[in-house]
Amino acid sequence: MTLACGVDVGGTKILGGVVDGDGTVVEELRVESPATNPHEIEDAIASVVRELAGRHPIATVGVGAAGYVDKTRSRVLFAPNIAWRDVDLKTGLEKRIDLPVVIENDANAAAWGEFRYGAGEDVDDLLLVTVGTGVGGGLVLDGELYRGAFGVGAEIGHMRVVPGGILCGCGNHGCFEQYASGNALVREVREAARGGSLLARGVLDLAGGDPEAIKGPLISRAAVAGDPFAIESLATVGTWLGEGIASLTAVLDPAVVAVGGGVSEVGELLLGPTRAAFGNSLTGRGYRPRLEIRKASLGNRAGLIGAADLSRR
Ligand SMILES: [Zn+2]
Repeated sequence: MTLACGVDVGGTKILGGVVDGDGTVVEELRVESPATNPHEIEDAIASVVRELAGRHPIATVGVGAAGYVDKTRSRVLFAPNIAWRDVDLKTGLEKRIDLPVVIENDANAAAWGEFRYGAGEDVDDLLLVTVGTGVGGGLVLDGELYRGAFGVGAEIGHMRVVPGGILCGCGNHGCFEQYASGNALVREVREAARGGSLLARGVLDLAGGDPEAIKGPLISRAAVAGDPFAIESLATVGTWLGEGIASLTAVLDPAVVAVGGGVSEVGELLLGPTRAAFGNSLTGRGYRPRLEIRKASLGNRAGLIGAADLSRR
């Protein structure tokens, strides 16, 4: 099978890879993302592809972009963390690299990667929930990537879970990602540390006594090492996550929900509470088949693997 190039473009980094027909990443390349300048981003993506194409016979290119991608999979309508405002990224890139290019939303690409080669390999209906700084989602229904009528569906991080709740970057109050994300985790632990809570002392010590130095990976490390407050804080996020997944399941009825993103790396410390809350809030519980909530298995390569595979179709 021919080789494809997948590129995952985020607000801080661009991760490119050469992917074979089995979903194996043959070579990977990471550069900084010049997120504030649309032309520089295109140049940076093109130079990653050119460098990889210089060493491998690449036939197609798939780009997972952190923004709204239109139904034609050419234009990025809007990106919250990148200076893309209705940009024809496909044409811009094809001019620069002379290979066929497909653009896809990054979370959709990651869901497709997990569906083809990861946690959803054995099912036809998969919901991927990524728990990173925010909450992202991607959906495969009946073996097809679901994009919605305009290409911008599955933005699960912005369903409202708390009326009048915390203000979200999207402008609304009480969005799911204000409660079930890495940012929510950090916010809660920092607040406790700033307030002088004895519970937060272990985590605060790890951060050198500076509440602002408390970051997601540090909380995860503390939890893995057995810190009770870090464990409890992850469980709070897991509980929000499980309740949100129960609501989504009421609508979508997937066979598997894969949980990915940086926070999911703690595994059962997050997923245990997620499953418990899911089980307590799923509508019709006890009288319907139980879906499986699994840890996503491709890590931060899911997006580039999925984008590469989509470019072959
Ligand atoms: Zn929002």
